[in-house]
Amino acid sequence: MKWHSEGHEEPADAPVVKQEFGRANPCPNCGSPGFLDHVDIIDRIQYEHCPECGHKWSQTEDELTQV
Ligand SMILES: [Zn+2]
Repeated sequence: MKWHSEGHEEPADAPVVKQEFGRANPCPNCGSPGFLDHVDIIDRIQYEHCPECGHKWSQTEDELTQV
């Protein structure tokens, strides 16, 4: 039994990971680590808040995945 040659196992759709949808990102207001409150998997929006300054914001998956 012989498989295809190794070292050529690129996943079909592996995106270049910059910021990840579903992870907390730094506060856009003060730069402190944000806290991920909720992820809306229907509309692809994540809601975060900042424990430091209380700022709240949301980010869409598009915003997070664009370069
Ligand atoms: Zn903040």
